[in-house]
Amino acid sequence: MKNVSFIALCAIIAGGGTRQAQNPPNGLATLVLRNAKVVTVDDKRSVAQAVAVRRDLIVAVGTDREIQEYVGPETHVIDLNGKLLIPGFIEGHGHFTGIGASKMNLDLMKVKNWDEVVQLVARAAKDAKKGDWILGRGWHQEKWDTTPTPNVEGFPIHESLSKVSPQNPVILTHASGHASLVNAKAMEIAGITKTTQNPSGGEILKDAGGNPIGLLRETAQGLVRRALAESRSQRTPQEKEENDRKEIELAMQECLSKGITSFQDAGSSFATIDVFKRFVDEGKLGLRLWVMVRESNEALSKNLARYKMVGYGDNRLTVLAIKKSIDGALGPRGAWLLEPYDDLPSSTGLNTIPVPEMEATAKLAMEHGYQFCVHAIGDRANRETLNIFERAFRQHPDAKDFRWRIEHAQHLSTVDIPRFAKLGVIASMQGIHCTSDGPYVIARLGEKRSEEGAYVWRNLLQSGAVLVNGTDAPVEDVDPIESFYASVSRKLKDGSVFFPHQRMSREEALKSYTLNAAYGSFEEKIKGSLALGKLADMVVLSKDIMTIPEDQIPTAQVLQTIVGGKIMFQR
Ligand SMILES: [Zn+2]
Repeated sequence: MKNVSFIALCAIIAGGGTRQAQNPPNGLATLVLRNAKVVTVDDKRSVAQAVAVRRDLIVAVGTDREIQEYVGPETHVIDLNGKLLIPGFIEGHGHFTGIGASKMNLDLMKVKNWDEVVQLVARAAKDAKKGDWILGRGWHQEKWDTTPTPNVEGFPIHESLSKVSPQNPVILTHASGHASLVNAKAMEIAGITKTTQNPSGGEILKDAGGNPIGLLRETAQGLVRRALAESRSQRTPQEKEENDRKEIELAMQECLSKGITSFQDAGSSFATIDVFKRFVDEGKLGLRLWVMVRESNEALSKNLARYKMVGYGDNRLTVLAIKKSIDGALGPRGAWLLEPYDDLPSSTGLNTIPVPEMEATAKLAMEHGYQFCVHAIGDRANRETLNIFERAFRQHPDAKDFRWRIEHAQHLSTVDIPRFAKLGVIASMQGIHCTSDGPYVIARLGEKRSEEGAYVWRNLLQSGAVLVNGTDAPVEDVDPIESFYASVSRKLKDGSVFFPHQRMSREEALKSYTLNAAYGSFEEKIKGSLALGKLADMVVLSKDIMTIPEDQIPTAQVLQTIVGGKIMFQR
């Protein structure tokens, strides 16, 4: 069997014109990976056996024999024993420091119900100093095995939480990041009472008697976050930097262990970018970051020119995009819809930043040559964003290639689907969101809207749109293999499949995690495929996710993560 596939492989290489070895070599390789199944993700979809690397660049891709001539006495040669070698995964939309922060706070992703949440907080409160903030993230009321009683719209009331943590303010952020549960102490510090008005773009959820239950939607979270920021501002700059560094280090380890060589960060402040830059200067940034700036328009207009960075420090850090959110998320019913929610007919969701303000950001992006990346989940949010983009593009008829992005593009009106390809707008979607949200999407949108417009990867691909994949970590685990599996299977935990005709093929899913992501950040010339002259960012997997039976894909493990020709993770 092995011989047959080997011969077939040689035939592909000899006949397919995929030979990329430069002959004769003008130098020897520092690293050679051989005896592998190399899926290059190049235009010809070629498969090779070996890759030669000199310092941080790929110098040849070909057969074991062809690559042998790059091997000298100093070359580090790794025999991969037939394992799959692919371009390093590019996380297309995640929150880098958020991953680190979530490792330092209570992890509520896997709790089974509200009682478990309360127990975890009780334990944390026991260990905390009086007045310390207790933070947690990742709960999702739709994923609990029981509905809390009492509840409002399925959300628990703060009393049980307040009882176990009377002295410590608590903020527990929803998995989506678009709502938070807080206790009485946090509301007291933030000044939230019965009479507090909803801020624009947010909601303080109240019970029938008008009392805040502790659930804050969208911008209403700002009330407690400001109080938290106020208390954090008491920290010395040294303490602050120490905290940032810890977050970055934890995020880096997590990403590298999961095969991620480049990370597209969906929104950091200028201050955080300063810390990223210091990491690069110190030679400590182990993967590559492409950062969307998330700041007020005022701060953007002051700083965009100064912060523009392309490939800073050997292609470690690029700052060339702006992030804004036009709506919330579907879980907490914050996604902005054209028609009301099926399970909340009084609501069409929330518009978090008014359209004129978004137009002003678009103008800033144009002026400074930044990409504009807009979080849009609901069909109304997506339409408004496409309209904003279209108006901005029309004012610059001479230029063409903007690659502005819609982050999530989760639920689309059928008439808006072809507009992505037509306008050249990137659909930055998360495979794993589909299977993770699957259990409640139909409740929110109804069968027809879900089928026509929710996570419509196939329709977008067919229309010619470029799809970028990712996880929105820490909303989901940053694991690209899980999201790859969700992309090709659309299989929910209960075994049902969410509208199977929208599945991606394995080739499409891999491309969405590599070359397409590189295209989505104007980096397709330097990364995203294994080809001569590209950065030597690669990952070795324990199983061939391109051919093994579908249900085995999630069992594949990352064996090695290589960034710029250096092994940064090894199992
Ligand atoms: Zn996000």
